[in-house]
Amino acid sequence: MTSDQRVWVHDFATGSREMRDLLGGKGANVAEMTRILGADRVPGGFTITTEACVAYMESGGATPAGLDAQVADALARLEAQSGRTLGDADDPLLVSVRSGARESMPGMLDTVLNLGLTDRSVEGLAARTGNPRFAWDSYRRFVQMYGNVVHGVSGERIEQEIRALKARRGVTEDTELDVDDLRELVTTFKGLYREATGEDFPQDPQVQLDGAIRAVFDSWTGERAVTYRRLNRIPDSWGTAVNVQQMVFGNKGETSGSGVAFSRDEVDGSPEPSGDFLPNAQGEDVVSGVRTPRDIRELADWQPAVHEQLMDILRTLERHYGDMQDTEFTVEEGHLYMLQTRNAKRPAQAAVRFAVDAVAEGLLDRGAAIATIDAASLDALLHPTFGNLDYTVLARGVAASPGAAKGEIVFTAKEAVAAAAEGREVVLVRPFTEADDVAGFHAARGILTSEGGKASHAALVARGMGRPAVTGAGDVEIDLAAGEMRVGDVVLRAGDRIAINGTTGGITTDDVPLVEPEISAEFLTVLGWCDELRTLGVRTNADTPQDAAKAIEFGAEGIGLCRTEHMFLGDRQPLMADVILAADDEARTRAIDALRPLQEADFEEILRTMAGRPVTVRLLDPPLHEFLPHPHDLPEGSPERARVESLQEANPMLGTRGVRLGILMPALYEMQVRALFTAAAKVDGANVEVMVPLVDYERELELVRALIERVAQETGVPDGAYTVGTMIELPRACFLADAIAHYADFFSFGTNDLTQTGLGFSRDDIEARILARYIDVGILDRSPFETIDSPGVGQMLRMGAWLGRKTKRDLKLGVCGEHGGDPDSIDFFHHSGIDYVSCSPFRVPIARVAAAQAAIGAPAGVWA
Ligand code: PEP
Ligand code: MG
Repeated sequence: MTSDQRVWVHDFATGSREMRDLLGGKGANVAEMTRILGADRVPGGFTITTEACVAYMESGGATPAGLDAQVADALARLEAQSGRTLGDADDPLLVSVRSGARESMPGMLDTVLNLGLTDRSVEGLAARTGNPRFAWDSYRRFVQMYGNVVHGVSGERIEQEIRALKARRGVTEDTELDVDDLRELVTTFKGLYREATGEDFPQDPQVQLDGAIRAVFDSWTGERAVTYRRLNRIPDSWGTAVNVQQMVFGNKGETSGSGVAFSRDEVDGSPEPSGDFLPNAQGEDVVSGVRTPRDIRELADWQPAVHEQLMDILRTLERHYGDMQDTEFTVEEGHLYMLQTRNAKRPAQAAVRFAVDAVAEGLLDRGAAIATIDAASLDALLHPTFGNLDYTVLARGVAASPGAAKGEIVFTAKEAVAAAAEGREVVLVRPFTEADDVAGFHAARGILTSEGGKASHAALVARGMGRPAVTGAGDVEIDLAAGEMRVGDVVLRAGDRIAINGTTGGITTDDVPLVEPEISAEFLTVLGWCDELRTLGVRTNADTPQDAAKAIEFGAEGIGLCRTEHMFLGDRQPLMADVILAADDEARTRAIDALRPLQEADFEEILRTMAGRPVTVRLLDPPLHEFLPHPHDLPEGSPERARVESLQEANPMLGTRGVRLGILMPALYEMQVRALFTAAAKVDGANVEVMVPLVDYERELELVRALIERVAQETGVPDGAYTVGTMIELPRACFLADAIAHYADFFSFGTNDLTQTGLGFSRDDIEARILARYIDVGILDRSPFETIDSPGVGQMLRMGAWLGRKTKRDLKLGVCGEHGGDPDSIDFFHHSGIDYVSCSPFRVPIARVAAAQAAIGAPAGVWA
């Protein structure tokens, strides 16, 4: 097919939700809504495909061949359907031109509304509607938006002009400006346009349409969109679709309005629909947070019939999509139009509540309900809340995103990023937020704004990221220029501490304790369903009885990795140093004898806590010098310093660590094994698995296994009362897993070291030094230490699993690297024949959900 024949444009009437990749989320859903609700409810229009955007980008900004003609045809069809013509002097058609990528990127891409207005057609619109104020308000919005979006006229200059005019007229609201004021603004904005472009504002609607389409394409590669994609792992190659839709007007007077509506409460998920609306306003007024919107329930008082229709539509859409919906609507002189619907991004508590209710209502079965949950977002349910409810409330705002946070105040996203890089905890405080602030959301512990409601930019982005947020705190006065926030006569500056509770809307300067979360009854229900559906076991990585107890509370079925090195730090470090630095065998034995009872007590307590669940204890792994003082802290010329210096290595991560310690200093491993077996003998039902780290060669494991078996005999532990296994965390071990398996009862893949050695990336350095650039230039879309590099490292793991099971059909296989708590990696492990994952206690619930999603084939960690 030549590019001339390619279909770049689809009318809404011909699209469907299955065409999301091509039409973008918005285009596909508008088409779907047109089918379900009827053309009467959804203003007509067409979508320019994401492929057209990709072709435009690839050609360096040339419109693909055939696109202009197809747009002209689609426009002609829209004109015929609406009975109006773009730019008509009597009764003009006006259109919106909106972006719409495959995944929603709220506020990151550009939109132009009211396109088609010119000096001539504005008069036509005024005459036809008998509402000159509306016509001129629409025109000033268009000149403003077109100038800003298509030609970069400064938004700040525009706002200044509006503020100045309102001040001259002595009014506070935009709606109080009259027709003459609006005409004046149009002239002023045209002047700004001329200043910025050197040209007059275009009076040919075709030129306007072309410009707007290009601007939307270009916004895909704009800085804020690129930043958003990096944070949300959206590929650059997708491109955005462009939706051209007939305008309907929420700013046509007191029986018109605009709003956003969720089919259920978007914060807690309760079944009552929620949202905001503004009479006599266009959609951007509601989301920008500039005017404080009214609660959707008040729609019933304002226009009862519209309210009823909207509630009915929300139910219909939710049933159709089988998921909670987030919609935008406009009421034009009493007629309700639906502009958009999408599966609602929601905080974890709402996701869980929806899943449970959807099953109870018969809307979804358990598997489908679990698939609606973004497993990674559940982190938020495991976040702290205020421990002390008796704090002094400084001010209150809207509870926009649940969870509590405290930290130093910062007033800009930049400062938030810089502070986070220094390891400081900060709360980002802004009057309202914009797309450019997103990096700051990521860096801050919480967000506080003085303006905007639950659907404001700040609220949406914070919920999407699981950051606690309080918005619309009207009593908080934020003076960015002075670098202060004021509440009554309390003045706070950057660096002062503040705490916010995004679950209740409370703000305080008290140093409230943050307490660990309790798992709600609904979350427990969901986790119970996940346990029935999943086939992958979930264990925890825990080195202390406290961590072990927490993990059991979160549903861990055992310990998959008990790292023993932490047991030799702190007070015990000198004892460990004595072992390593001992001048002779006798001195070493004495030092080891001193350590053994301590180690034994550690194991006993952990085994008791785990009450018969399997506990995988890993023998010592890190390089020995980690337990020694720094040579510079020892007297120069002393034998001790010389010995410490002799133990320093150029590449400690590739040095004397792991099983190599057991070969070079068997007394250490022997002490650990003896302590473990002695402890196990004291605990009823102790279920012990001894794990040997960093094995390369089968002979290494053979030797250490022999040592373990000997100690077992010496301590009277019968065969079969314990198992011996190894970590598989080096490439050679994957390739030779069949040979290694002869000496192993189980494998546990150490995907941290396997990633480090498989990719040759230092696990301690890559994230700070290399990752950002690698993501920028499209080599990586996330850290391979966070999500398994499935085509490379993942294939080594699969080879290890396959070869291991070739030797022993029932070889038990686990994963205990950080990837064990990452939903995408869990999906991969599920499909690699792994028996269980092991992750930090707080990731255990996430792993249970992700494992169930993997079992039912739901995409892991991806929003529908
Ligand atoms: C691993 O390498 O994946 C692992 C779990 O061990 P550690 O992180 O302790 O090296
Ligand atoms: Mg390791």
